[in-house]
Amino acid sequence: MYDLVIVGAGPAGMTAAIYGVRANLSVLLLDRLAPGGQVINTKEVENYPGVGKIEGAELAMQMFAHTQELGVELDYRTVTKIEYDGKVKRIYSEEDDTVIEALTVIIATGTRPRTLNIPGEDEFKGASISWCAICDGAKYRGRDVVVIGGGNSAVDEGTYLASIANSLTIVTDFDLTADPVSSEYLRSLDNVTVYPYKRVLEFVSAEGRLAGVRFCDKDTGENEMVVNCDGVFEYIGAIPSTEFLQGTDFIESHGYIETDSHMRTAQKGIFGAGDCVSKHLRQIVTATSDGAIAAQEAAAYIKALRREKH
Ligand SMILES: Cc1cc2nc3c(=O)[nH]c(=O)nc-3n(C[C@H](O)[C@H](O)[C@H](O)COP(=O)(O)OP(=O)(O)OC[C@H]3O[C@@H](n4cnc5c(N)ncnc54)[C@H](O)[C@@H]3O)c2cc1C
Repeated sequence: MYDLVIVGAGPAGMTAAIYGVRANLSVLLLDRLAPGGQVINTKEVENYPGVGKIEGAELAMQMFAHTQELGVELDYRTVTKIEYDGKVKRIYSEEDDTVIEALTVIIATGTRPRTLNIPGEDEFKGASISWCAICDGAKYRGRDVVVIGGGNSAVDEGTYLASIANSLTIVTDFDLTADPVSSEYLRSLDNVTVYPYKRVLEFVSAEGRLAGVRFCDKDTGENEMVVNCDGVFEYIGAIPSTEFLQGTDFIESHGYIETDSHMRTAQKGIFGAGDCVSKHLRQIVTATSDGAIAAQEAAAYIKALRREKH
């Protein structure tokens, strides 16, 4: 029986593990993949305080090394179910029939970007195709960028990108569907062109580099064209990795975990942290903050349980 099991070893989960061990809890950290989460796939991180410009993989390694210096136990498991009908939580995974028991669980399973699954996407993702303008926008200063999508993220991030890039082209399968003021502001900028009701067909490659985006009319498949660009940002939505929580009373309609400001869910002893939680800013720094708060709360919850016993 562990005091704390953390599902997901991204920035949120690793921070929770550090705080958990330092609060004298017995901690098990689980991930289906190598620790690091989405940071591993980020070319460069430039906005995490104290480390300057750093390769994502390097930052992830440093965070993981920190957990190991403190003796955090890691196991590779894909969690498929959490049962919680009493004080003891039971964690099931895909790999075998082992049932892991814990007094508290922090769910820090992050999100994954919705993708188009079209030719060229695998080749350029994480390099010239990004899902994060705050992170990768600066490298397109004075260059040509395409944003795919027309919702709030596409318009907000697009407005930021338009202030940096030489040209910004928006290709979307509807029109701009963000709030009218923001949408019209973006549309009014001199360096912005919007192609609504389009279907993206391919990321065009030339000599191993991204050269452009090919698309056509969404309904008829006609009017194929290619917009040349140096970078693409896809904003067609994110999917929280919380499928294994379906049927619980603490995920909202889009699958994000609902917590209070202490990262507590509606179930005592279960906490959420990081990108899988319903919130406004999904960044490494907010994920680590959530992880720290969740672990502190888990420690306080366990302390209260022990007091009850005596
Ligand atoms: C391309 C890109 C660039 C980015 N650049 C920056 C940047 O420069 N600066 C910045 O601050 N932020 C950046 N971000 C955002 C940042 O990566 C995230 O906010 C951060 O990684 C969230 O951390 P997390 O721990 O909540 O989730 P994640 O990093 O997503 O980690 C979740 C972990 O949970 C694991 N997991 C999921 N489901 C299960 C399961 N069922 N069982 C076991 N394990 C599971 C996953 O394998 C993963 O390791 C970027 C994001 C992307 C996509």
